[in-house]
Amino acid sequence: MRNRRAALTAIAGAASLALALTACGQSGNGGSKDKGGDAKGGTIGIAMPTKSSERWINDGNNVVKDLEAKGYKTKLVYGEDNPDTQVSQIENLITQGVKGLVIAAIDNKSLNNVLQEAADANIPVIAYDRLILGTKNVDYYASFDNEKVGVLQGTYIVQKLGLDKGKKGPFNIELFAGSNDDNNTKYFFNGAMSVLQPYIDKKQLVVKSGQTALNKVTTLRWDGATAQKRMEDILTSSYQSGKVDAVLSPYDGISIGVIAALKSDGYGSKGQPLPVITGQDAELASVKSIIAGEQTQTVYKDLRKLADVAATMMDDALKGKKPQVNDTKTYDNGSKVVPAYLLQPVSVDKSNYEDVLVKGGYYTDAELK
Ligand code: BGC
Repeated sequence: MRNRRAALTAIAGAASLALALTACGQSGNGGSKDKGGDAKGGTIGIAMPTKSSERWINDGNNVVKDLEAKGYKTKLVYGEDNPDTQVSQIENLITQGVKGLVIAAIDNKSLNNVLQEAADANIPVIAYDRLILGTKNVDYYASFDNEKVGVLQGTYIVQKLGLDKGKKGPFNIELFAGSNDDNNTKYFFNGAMSVLQPYIDKKQLVVKSGQTALNKVTTLRWDGATAQKRMEDILTSSYQSGKVDAVLSPYDGISIGVIAALKSDGYGSKGQPLPVITGQDAELASVKSIIAGEQTQTVYKDLRKLADVAATMMDDALKGKKPQVNDTKTYDNGSKVVPAYLLQPVSVDKSNYEDVLVKGGYYTDAELK
């Protein structure tokens, strides 16, 4: 039998994706059970990173739902942010005979051996949201324009402080980035810094902690408590005088930690407003925080569309059809450029959450109460 991987590689090319995006909602019925009735397409393994963040729970449920609608069974597993657990979960899925794998990696470099096992078994692999590095055995990448996520966060800070409208500052800003083992982290950070750095250079934005290099500002496994501790340390060491005017936060869970540190230092009470604080994922708690005037902004990524892209890619790949991609340049994983389909992120704050999130069917008004 001809190697499916060779066939997949051969058909990878640029095309625009005309997906029939269904309003599939977020509350699917995923679980680690074997799902679906007499699925003709076989079983697809879905490996997600953690249940500690709402987005990945929704991702898992959405991918299950979309694949089942296409006639597949699914096995959904969560690695609980432990790379070794994720590797053994994927090994198990391969042993159990899955026909395809959809993987959101915990550690982007830990999957090389297990993906060789997948390749040996002719199992197509789709990197879900996070690119897997250092292996040719990843066929497609479904994600968002990750650099744009950072650009939206940086731009929001600049506009909210009025720097784009002639305000001179100087304003104090502190910078947070995501996990150093997540390939998205540098895209988010570099995107944000492409907007912020010129103002830092002109001293209109000042990072009093002096922590500006990516390796000084990452947050292992995107952990909110780790971010909270770092913010507390920064407040103690660098803000005996002066106040924080803005915080670049790459993810809502980190924003929650940062806000907790700021509040215990007296921010958010009379005379001491909270700084401008960005985020990502439009998680329910953070959208409520935005409505309550604490977190300022988040970047919304419609996970329903992402799941649809990934499920459609997998279905096409398994049927020998050419999955549609819209980026064949950006995502070099060190072994090859992985053909990708990238969706567009949207900046959300108090002024547009109703239009984007409620009218868009992502949350109901009742959920946001
Ligand atoms: C995702 C973000 C998410 C972060 C933490 C990243 O890989 O792209 O949407 O906020 O992981 O879970």
